[in-house]
Parts: sequence; structure tokens; C-alpha cells
Amino acid sequence: MELKRRGILIILSSPSGAGKSTLAQRLMQWDPSIRFSVSATTRPPRPGEENGREYYFKTRTEFETMVQRGEMLEHAEVFGNLYGSPRAPVEAAIAAGHDVLFDIDWQGGQQIRNSALAEDVVSIFVLPPSIGELERRLRARGQDSDEVIRARMQKSRDEISHWAEYDYVLINQDIDRAVEETRAIVTAERLKRSRQVGLVDLVRRLNAEFEEKKV
Ligand code: 5GP
Repeated sequence: MELKRRGILIILSSPSGAGKSTLAQRLMQWDPSIRFSVSATTRPPRPGEENGREYYFKTRTEFETMVQRGEMLEHAEVFGNLYGSPRAPVEAAIAAGHDVLFDIDWQGGQQIRNSALAEDVVSIFVLPPSIGELERRLRARGQDSDEVIRARMQKSRDEISHWAEYDYVLINQDIDRAVEETRAIVTAERLKRSRQVGLVDLVRRLNAEFEEKKV
């Protein structure tokens, strides 16, 4: 039986190369009702990226206008580019009882945790098993120069320093296991009493049945 419940905001953060995007995709394959929060960014698209799918690609002026109008739930500068989560789709999704998945950095995580939506947040930090493995995964993409990789490694160090701000921390040594652990987190968080707003009606009905049976 499906009870009415409040949607949760699943914030997934990790240094780049820790396997966060794969994890996000696998989570949405497991439950297609989970909505992905497509961020806006001023960084140029990478090969294969599509406007509106991975990101909404914006000019700096367009982005700053959105911020001024209060249209961003959070925003931050990463590697000299602006990134932000548009507010409207998130509010619409949780009002409809859908969960929303965010692939954002620690700065964004902090802002959403400190917003009016704090109660709805479930934050997960993904650690790599080692720094050697992190670097290997960054190089395996084969898209970036040594200089870019060095900058990403530095950003990774900064990102990892925020691990203790998250509700859950998992180590992505084996992707299947990390996916299973993430599903377990989401399943348990959905079952929290405070999120199952439909429980009051159900228990009222159960009590009415007791009355009928004169228990
Ligand atoms: P990339 O350029 O590699 O896609 O992303 C760089 C970093 O920006 C990643 O750590 C990613 O999680 C983060 N990021 C992507 N979208 C957002 C966003 O909307 N807000 C924030 N704060 N970070 C984001």
C-alpha cells in the first residue's frame, strides 16, 4: 500500500572521480520517479552534454539575473564557473510527493541544509577508496589536461574536508555495493514517520475498524 508522503531532497556530493554520476544514474534507474535536479552552469558544455539534460548552459549575465530574482535554491562558484540549482522544479517535485536528487558540491549542500527545506534533506557524501584511485578515475576520462587534473585534485581535497557535514558517508570501492547502500538509505529515509503524512489517515481507519469489531 502506497501512503502519501513528503518528497525528500537527496544531496549527493563527492570529489570528482569518486563515481557520483554513475551512482546518481543507477539510483534513478532503480526508481524512475526520482527527479534529477538539472543545474544551471556558466561552464561550456563537454562533448556529449545536452542543454537541459546534464545542465542548463547559461551566460554569466543570465545566471546572475536568475540569482538576483531569487530563482536559485543555492549557487556556488566551482573552478571559476557558476553552478546553481533552479528552485521552481524542486518545489514542484516535492509538492507532488516526488524525491529530488542533487549532484552538487559541499557549498550547495550547505546552503540547502540551511534553507527552509532543511527538514526534507538527506545528504550523502561519497568517498573514493584512495587518492590514487581518484586520480586514476579522473585520468581515465581522457578529457582533461594535466593542469586541469591537478586543479580537480585540489578541489577534491577541499571537497573531502567537508565529509563530516553529511548525514551519510559511503565509500565507493565497488559500485554495485555503493548503489545498494544508497538505495537502503533512500528506503529508510522515506519510511521516517515525519515524512509519512498519510499515516494519520491510515491509523484513523484502522481504529474505525476496531470500533466496528467492538474491540
Ligand atoms: P562538473 O563541471 O564536473 O560537471 O561539476 C563540477 C562540480 O560542480 C561538481 O562537484 C558538481 O557536483 C558541482 N555542481 C554541479 N551542479 C551544481 C550546482 O547546481 N550547485 C553546486 N553548488 N554545485 C554544483
